[in-house]
Formats: sequence, structure tokens, C-alpha cells
Amino acid sequence: FSGQAEHSVVTTCAYCGVGCSFKAEMKGSQVVRMTPHKNGQANEGHACVKGRFAWGYATHKDRITKPMIRAKITDPWREVTWEEAIAYAASEFRRVQAKYGRDSVGGITSSRCTNEETYLVQKLVRAAFGNNNVDTCARVCHSPTGYGLKTTIGESAGTQTFASVEHADVIMVIGANPTDGHPVFGSRLKRRLREGAKLIVADPRRIDLVDGPHVKAAFHLQLRPGTNVALVNALAHTIVTEGLLNEAFIAERCEPLAFEQWRAFVSQPENSPEATAEITGVPAEQVREAARLYATGGNAAIYYGLGVTEHAQGSTMVMGIANLAMATGNIGREGVGVNPLRGQNNVQGSCDMGSFPHELPGYRHIGGDEVRHQFEAAWGVTLQPEPGLRIPNMFDAALDGSFKGLYCQGEDIVQSDPDTQHVAAALTSMECIVVQDIFLNETAKYAHVFLPGSSFLEKDGTFTNAERRISRVRRVMPPLPGYADWEVTSMLARALGYEMDYAHPSEIMDEIARLTPTFHGVSYALLDRLGSVQWPCNEEAPEGTPTMHVDEFVRGKGKFVITQFVASREKVTRRYPLLLTTGRILSQYNVGAQTRRTENSRWHEEDQLEIHPHDAQDRGIKTGDWVGIESRAGQTVLRALVSERMQPGVVYTTFHFPESGANVITTDSSDWATNCPEYKVTAVQVQPV
Ligand code: SF4
Repeated sequence: FSGQAEHSVVTTCAYCGVGCSFKAEMKGSQVVRMTPHKNGQANEGHACVKGRFAWGYATHKDRITKPMIRAKITDPWREVTWEEAIAYAASEFRRVQAKYGRDSVGGITSSRCTNEETYLVQKLVRAAFGNNNVDTCARVCHSPTGYGLKTTIGESAGTQTFASVEHADVIMVIGANPTDGHPVFGSRLKRRLREGAKLIVADPRRIDLVDGPHVKAAFHLQLRPGTNVALVNALAHTIVTEGLLNEAFIAERCEPLAFEQWRAFVSQPENSPEATAEITGVPAEQVREAARLYATGGNAAIYYGLGVTEHAQGSTMVMGIANLAMATGNIGREGVGVNPLRGQNNVQGSCDMGSFPHELPGYRHIGGDEVRHQFEAAWGVTLQPEPGLRIPNMFDAALDGSFKGLYCQGEDIVQSDPDTQHVAAALTSMECIVVQDIFLNETAKYAHVFLPGSSFLEKDGTFTNAERRISRVRRVMPPLPGYADWEVTSMLARALGYEMDYAHPSEIMDEIARLTPTFHGVSYALLDRLGSVQWPCNEEAPEGTPTMHVDEFVRGKGKFVITQFVASREKVTRRYPLLLTTGRILSQYNVGAQTRRTENSRWHEEDQLEIHPHDAQDRGIKTGDWVGIESRAGQTVLRALVSERMQPGVVYTTFHFPESGANVITTDSSDWATNCPEYKVTAVQVQPV
């Protein structure tokens, strides 16, 4: 549709964790174009190629707008009324619980859902299902961030604003590729580099930031996949043994005993750059120089991504990063900090809203009597004090025969979770799967009820970006299925016998604000007045908190944690001699369900396997050849791209297309603390086909 716009609505991009503000320019109820909003605090009027074309998928012909049910997954779908679909789903959940027990059902929510939608899903599971079997797709991306930052500095969130990068003198990017994954922030970061800030990149690939147009990293620590913790220990060893600690900051702000233990640990010879070079593959002198630059180069900020979290030691590495920032005093002011780059738009929000099985909104443990009683009083139910199942535990319990029903909102677990065959086997063994989504995704192939969802253009609510910024998502057009997602969850709760009654998402936010100290001051009126606000937003900070941990850490004293390196279970062998790591590309987003249905597919039509010229030559592979890739989990076929960006022995692909299904290859190995999958390290063989 094209033509002259008649009016516009300001809303928020539904893709990455930058959370750019957009104007949807409208003619009647049709979108003419999306333009970046000049006053958008996260994006300053900029946008990337994903966001600009995002509206294309909202009205795509593949949208499902009618509820559907079927008794068996081999039956054809049957369109039904909303009343019938909701009644059927509720009666099936109750049947399953009567037969297999209260804990035999659960729910999964998504970082693509608004805060309000996520809050309602966890409320439905806890209050209507009567258990804590709720989890979010953040399980498979940033759950180690929640664990690691909460443990060390006391809050499960990044410490800065995006604008803070403009005050950084040294920028360390670890396991992130902002050029592709967070393009608008990536541009801001590059602007700062052009102004003279120094860059350290730690990544197995030669990403664009290393030596792209107009930017060049001072150091590229090109480590082997799975060796992050050995590298961070070597950086810490250099800082400690060369006298580069910020002793005054540590004495004033950190727990002394934990610091002394950590200092003794990292000082050990086995953590030196020379000793760890064997493990990481990074020359010792490079590590020493990078550590000196980070510790003495002025304001030093760390930005990290899934290359940190999606490892068997994801949580350990997050704590290692926090250790570095505390050791050098690079936390608590502009230009410094520990900054997780969240992949999806509302990863931060979905975690904030209590969608982990052990935490109520605001990261408070379900086992805490006081907070649980507060929610019980507000919701009029008795809550279970024990944490419920995480997503991987749900799959295992399904295969054990004890988990039989799942409500899955906005998340394609079959395409996005690791070890696809394991996921598919688990879903096949279940009796009631309810999928709520805008398209018939891969997971819907295993569903018994399909509830059509709303796109971001049809939503009213809020998203919280990677800098804790809560922004309004405003309805641009009515929901194509007739109901918004929050209304559907409410209907399902009522059909299950639990009264859930809101007139508008603003009332849901009001309830969140009443029950969550870090959100006490948040309301739609405030967001309309300020444009957006960064939590904590409450009595002490009525207009939000741009920089956290300024005078003291949220937990009081910062806590150093010992980060012992443990080698990944995924090891190269004669049968699987290469390591696969996975990531994203600029024009596509996650499982591609949205971007594949927009103009973006013109630029990138398939996943490819990047392979170093030496490895390609050994196997007789040229760019464009079809190659088979096999791991102990499974095998698939991809087209090869021979690339100097790779290091020998490491291959790379994206996971945007179900046809290639990269997660058929990835394994069930996961982070020791949070079960975040080890997507970034899989031993594989690659052969021409
Ligand atoms: Fe902004 Fe990310 Fe959307 Fe691009 S995908 S417009 S960077 S929020």
C-alpha cells in the first residue's frame, strides 16, 4: 500500500533489544510507511533495515486469523469460534491435570510479547494452573545475564543507557555483533570509535567491527569457541598481577573477603595469559595489552551478547565480566558499565515480569514468604512456593510422561530451541498443546489448539529494551483475529475458572506497578509524558534511573565470584573435527518468521555455512556448494560460504530458516546455572554433498 499519510501513531519496533521508536504513518487503517521517530530516546531518529520493513509481515497472507482445533496432530485443523477454542483448550488442560496431576501443565512466553502479555501468562500459570511451570524464551538467550549480574552486582539488568557509550574511552565487545544484531546501537558505537575511543573485540569470528569501514579494533582476541572464561581469567590475571586494580573503588564498594579470594584465584599461574593461550588460542601478549588498555584507558565499557551467555559456562562468564568491571572501578557512572545486548525487543521485560519459574515480577524468589503472600493477597489464590520447570525440564518431563499440557505464546520452540529432534519427540508425547501466534509456525505442527495472535501493530502495551527503557507500544490497527493477545489469555484464565478481568493493558501495568518495587512509578500517563522511562522508576527515582549502581551496588557491596574455567563437553574429535557457532545476520531476525515475510528476504534468502578457506580446501568445498553438516544431535544441509572471517577449525551459520534448521545440529549441552543452551559450541563434521 502506498500514498499520502493522513495521520501517524508512535510505537516501538518489535525486533531487537535497541527498541527503536517509530512513527506508523497511516492512511485510514492502512500503514503507508514506518519512519523512525525523531524524539525516540533509544534511537534518536535512526532505524535499521529490519525495523523499516517490519510492517510488511503484519498483513501478510500467511497470517492466521481464526482459532482452530484438532483432536490429534495428524488430523486437519478445523476453524472454530473463539468461544469453542477457548472452552476446548481449558477443558483439555483440566482433563490433563485431573489425569496426570496439577504439575503436568505449564506455559512458555516470549520476548516478543509485551510486558503486560507476559505478566498475564505467568499469572495464568501460577494462579489458574496452580503451579510455577512458566518459562520464557530468555531461558535460551540471556538467563545467565539474570543469574550472573544478580549474583555480583545485585540487579539482573544492564547498568547504562545506550547514550552512555558516547562517554566511553575504551569499548570492549565480547561475543556480540552489534552491526548485525543491534544495528542502530552499532552505529552509535562506531560513531564513538571514529571520535577516538579504542576498541577491543573478543569473538571467534572476524566481525565487521574488527576492521570494517572506518573502524578498526585495537585488539581482536580471536578465541576458540567455548573458552570465554579462560580468556576473562587471563585478563583479570594481568590486571591483578600488574598492579592495575582500582584499589580505592574495591575497598569502598566491594565485599573484602570475596575480593581477596578472587584475587588469589586469578593470580594463580594457570590463569596467566601465557598458560591460557593454549586453551583460547589468543597470544598472551595480545591479552596482556588488551587488559592494560581496559584497566588504564579511561572510561571502559563492556558490551556483550549471546556469545557470552549461550555456553555451558554462560553464567560464569557473565560473573567474570562483572568482576573485571568491579576490579577496575568501571561501573556506576556514564561511559562505563556492564551492558548485555539483548537479542529480542523485550528480553529484559519478559524477565522483569516474573516469567522464570523461580521468580515473581521484579526478580523476587517464589520461595520468599513475604513476597508470595503479597501476590496471593492481590490475586486471591494460594501460590506454590517451589520453583516450577524450566523449558528444557519441561521437555524432559514430557518424555518421562509427567508433563502433558503446554500453553505457548509467541515462541517457536521447535525452530529456536536446541536439539530439534529432542524437542519434537517431547511435544509429540504431549496431549494438549495450545499455540498462540500470528503464523502457523513449526511448533504449531505439534499443537492441538491454535489461537491466532496479534502483530506489534495491533498491540497496546509496553516493551522494555536492553537499557531498561520502558516504551509504549501503541495500537496502529485493530487486531486481525478480533482479540488482542492479553484478552485471549484473560479468556483462557476465566474458562479455567480464574477471574481475570481488565478493561485495558494500562490496568495490567497499574497492577504490575503496585506489586513491583522497581516499577512503582510506572504508568501509561508517565510514559506518555516522558516518552519512555528506565526502571527502577519509583518514589526514589520518579523519572527513572539512567545509570545504576552509582553510589553503591543494588546488592550493597559488590561481590567478586571465582570463575574456574571448565572445558566444554563439546570437543573436536576425528569424527567431528570442527566447532560450529551460530548467530544472526543484519536483514533477518531470529527464526525469521517475521522477516522472511517482509522485503528483507530480498537480501538474504537462506542460511549459509561460513567456513575458513583452509577447511574448505581440505574438503573440496567452494562458495555456493551444498554441504552436509553433522553433529552428535543431527544433520542438515546448507550452502557454503568460504570466508576469511572464520578462523580455521570453526564454522558458523545463522538460524533464520526452517529449511536448514540449524538447531537440528545444536545439542542439549547447557549452562550449569540456568540451562541456557550451549548454542555457540557444537562439534561437527562438514562434507560436500
Ligand atoms: Fe531498531 Fe533493532 Fe528495530 Fe533495527 S531491529 S529498527 S535496531 S529496534
